[in-house]
Amino acid sequence: MTLVDTHCHLDFDSFDADRTDVIARAVAMGVSRMLNPSVDLENSANVIQFANKLEPVNAAVGVHPNDCQEWNSDTVTKLKELAQNRKVVAVGEIGLDYYWKKAPKDLQISVFQAQLELAAELGLPVIVHNREAGEDALDILLKWQASLEEMNSPLASRPGVLHSFSGDRQMADKAVAASFFIGLTGPLTFKNAKSLQEIATGLPLENLLIETDSPFLSPHPERGQRNEPARVKLVAEKLAELKSLAYTEVETATTFNAERLFRFAEHQ
Ligand SMILES: [Zn+2]
Repeated sequence: MTLVDTHCHLDFDSFDADRTDVIARAVAMGVSRMLNPSVDLENSANVIQFANKLEPVNAAVGVHPNDCQEWNSDTVTKLKELAQNRKVVAVGEIGLDYYWKKAPKDLQISVFQAQLELAAELGLPVIVHNREAGEDALDILLKWQASLEEMNSPLASRPGVLHSFSGDRQMADKAVAASFFIGLTGPLTFKNAKSLQEIATGLPLENLLIETDSPFLSPHPERGQRNEPARVKLVAEKLAELKSLAYTEVETATTFNAERLFRFAEHQ
């Protein structure tokens, strides 16, 4: 059986010394597919280069809310060009970050919305980053998904993922009702993550994805170290334990979900 790490930043320089070993370790652990999202325009081009060289890696292109000061009228055109690469499966990571607040809220919101429109035009799902902006992010996403339904877009049934989910139960339920996926990372395995664990336990398995967010958020018992895609297995094992399911059932379901959302088979 195989696993998919639906969110890892393999292009970051913390992997410069041993990137191919890290990928080989993941593959040896059964992680057959890794999705590397981007944080800005320059990074999007880099990520595509890596994905073209590294067979098990796919890419997403987009501008992160912490990097949206660089946004200008050309950015959408350039992202659209980059998205033509066959290894690109999504627009991301995009969203809102009111914790770091590196750009004003208004700018974050307009950049987020412009990239949602781009995703709709490209027919690609989105990878959503949200930090302390849950209400605004959810409001924007639900309106966007409703507009996809109105347009009869096939994307309405697979609009995207709330990556490294950190919201409350109500937010998760509303997102799932609008066909979004919920991405679970290392914090699911932390001893002090009772509320996230309760939320994950209650959500339908068919809406869950597993991810590492490498090099960040390393799961227990490797907490605090540089994270890597092989450890997505620790997240899957924790999810199986929480949901009282066989590990293989979680493995099969999350890999199937990842394929349903990102359609890797069409982007090899
Ligand atoms: Zn990320």
